[in-house]
Amino acid sequence: MNRNPDVMIIGAGASGMIASVKAAERHKSVLLLDKNDTPGRKISASGNGRCNMMNSGALRYYGDQEFADHVLENSTADDIRHFFNQYGLMLASENEGRIYPSTFQSASVLSVLKNAMGINGVQLKSNTTVSSVSRQNDLFTVTDTNGRKWQSTKLIIACGSPAQPKLGGTDNGYELLSSLGHRIIPAVPSLVPLYTDRKSISGLSGIRVRGKVSLYDQDKLIHSEEGEILFTEYGISGICVMQCSRFIKDKSSYLSVNFLHGYYDKPEEFCHELKRRRNMYHEYSPVSLLDGVLVSRIAYAVMKQAGVPLKGEKAGELSDELLKAIAETAFHYRISIEGTRGFEYAQVAAGGADCREFDPKTMESTVMSGLYATGEVLNVDGDCGGFNLMFAFSSGLAAGKSV
Ligand SMILES: Cc1cc2nc3c(=O)[nH]c(=O)nc-3n(C[C@H](O)[C@H](O)[C@H](O)COP(=O)(O)OP(=O)(O)OC[C@H]3O[C@@H](n4cnc5c(N)ncnc54)[C@H](O)[C@@H]3O)c2cc1C
Repeated sequence: MNRNPDVMIIGAGASGMIASVKAAERHKSVLLLDKNDTPGRKISASGNGRCNMMNSGALRYYGDQEFADHVLENSTADDIRHFFNQYGLMLASENEGRIYPSTFQSASVLSVLKNAMGINGVQLKSNTTVSSVSRQNDLFTVTDTNGRKWQSTKLIIACGSPAQPKLGGTDNGYELLSSLGHRIIPAVPSLVPLYTDRKSISGLSGIRVRGKVSLYDQDKLIHSEEGEILFTEYGISGICVMQCSRFIKDKSSYLSVNFLHGYYDKPEEFCHELKRRRNMYHEYSPVSLLDGVLVSRIAYAVMKQAGVPLKGEKAGELSDELLKAIAETAFHYRISIEGTRGFEYAQVAAGGADCREFDPKTMESTVMSGLYATGEVLNVDGDCGGFNLMFAFSSGLAAGKSV
């Protein structure tokens, strides 16, 4: 009969792979199980194939944010860097603290992780979907969908989240942890584009502009972000929009876009400028007032939402009231949200296993000894910029060091 491995890990993604190497470096025999035919599918897809794997700036986590900060304090960005350097991966920095492999190819990160697993004798079983776990007399038994069973005294759940099922995203990790007595915070899609009302985005598909987006729920400001906004056929996207998505509750939410962010501080200031323009462009069409400030399709949309009659009028005929409305609308262009594009298009999930039931130094459960959880299966999600992979690597290192 085969000897049981010292450690079993369910999920050969970012956190599971790094945990497997770290445990195997300490001479533990490690069995890594994954439902996909190849490990690390999300690593391959990350950062548009470039893999934005870390960030050197201030930490930007949500959910159990303090827990995430503690994990990163104990297994630091330098530890992750050291790990990858040791196995031959060089890193490069870009703007906003974003760190990538120096090749700017996800494949390099994956190769190095797979090499490290091979060198340290990690046993990988692909095409293996775990359907249940149980524990008796300090021994975990893992069963897959074909009824095969494996046992060990240490078990790491590294199953990730339901984001992007086509890359292996499932909520299996929540089910497995819940069956072992853990609390799960219901997960919602995060870092995901938004469906919006058709009217406010009509004619804007394909436009990219910089601005500030603010998410409101029943007129209460929930979250603001600035950056590039992308208008699409179905709604709105761009990093700043996606970073608002985790806060969306229901259809009472709307986005307010400030197209003049960084150029004018207040609508009154811009209104003053519009009055100057009204004199200058007296004989021109109303939309000419926004020439040189907004791209023309956005200018039309702002005029429309502000209630400016666009046919037959001249700029010189617009009242002070209408100029005020144009300035207000350019600062607060309202877009109603119909919903997010769901887990199918989300980069991560907000929600997951309640981190109060885990130790941030070791990732061990405080509910059941010998059980660990790492990465996105936990109630931690980060902003774009490398924070999610960084948490996966950091928590994976922590678990691998302590199993
Ligand atoms: C398109 C895309 C782009 C992204 N880009 C970035 C980026 O540039 N920077 C960044 O920081 N983050 C990025 N992310 C997020 C990042 O990839 C994840 O946060 C990270 O991979 C999570 O690591 P993990 O180990 O927790 O889970 P995963 O990497 O998702 O691994 C989980 C593994 O568990 C396996 N699994 C699930 N259920 C079972 C089961 N029942 N039995 C066996 N195996 C199972 C899955 O097949 C998978 O291989 C991106 C995500 C996506 C989808």
